[in-house]
Amino acid sequence: MSSLEIDAVRKVWPGARGLETTAIEDASLRVSSGEFVAILGPSGCGKSTLLELCAGLEPLSGGRILIDGEPVTGPNPKVVMVFQEHSLFPWLTVEDNVIFGLRMKGMGIDERWRRGREVLERVRLVKFAKHYPHQLSGGMRQRVAIARALVGQPEFILMDEPFAALDFQTRVLMQQFLLEIWSGFQSTILFVTHQIDEAVLLADRVVVMSAAPGRVLEDVKIDLPRPRSMTDPAFNDYRMRLTAHMEREVMRAAEFQ
Ligand code: ADP
Repeated sequence: MSSLEIDAVRKVWPGARGLETTAIEDASLRVSSGEFVAILGPSGCGKSTLLELCAGLEPLSGGRILIDGEPVTGPNPKVVMVFQEHSLFPWLTVEDNVIFGLRMKGMGIDERWRRGREVLERVRLVKFAKHYPHQLSGGMRQRVAIARALVGQPEFILMDEPFAALDFQTRVLMQQFLLEIWSGFQSTILFVTHQIDEAVLLADRVVVMSAAPGRVLEDVKIDLPRPRSMTDPAFNDYRMRLTAHMEREVMRAAEFQ
């Protein structure tokens, strides 16, 4: 079991000179074990904040978050987070970056190397195993970060626009890779994106957040078989429906500025 329950969550960020920002207000969402849920919303609506709260990186200002029924009070070893920007150790090679976390899990060296090689093959970076991060392009570094997150076959994967900086072809490959990992390991995924197509392509459900302070506005089940195609008319129906929600929220956000 690996379920996630976000219940009436509120987050207020402190600011300079006592000016606070209410990033999230009364957000509730349930993600069942093995489900792939995408969060869509206008910039600044609190999507990244919500992931940080789920990862236990920040305290809540109200409500509660439960992972497998247990309240989140700090980082949880079952949960990995992939950020928008890679966060690699510059002093380690690509391969050592990828297998770093496996050592913490007490895995033997042979198994660590085997898993590391396997996942590097999947992200097409085996040839760069002995390179250091500064010798790679930005997109390659992000692929290493994704490989590192997925190598341990995590139960929960929290992803904050992980493919935003990748070119179209690499993004398509990484999306396929992620879907394989998800179905192979039955991970539970919460995936933030601002791309409607990406959300419909990947997720079982797409949750639309309101403009700040973020709340859950819509929860749309994507009832399409996989593999999905962006040229499928049924795909387009979801695209239109979600675009309408997003447009409304963008207009609403503009009114408040
Ligand atoms: P999104 O991911 O939807 O673009 P964020 O969660 O990054 O939105 O931000 C939501 C709001 O919270 C914004 O107003 C942002 O400025 C604020 N915020 C985010 N992180 C912090 C932080 N560490 N300290 C103070 N304010 C923050």
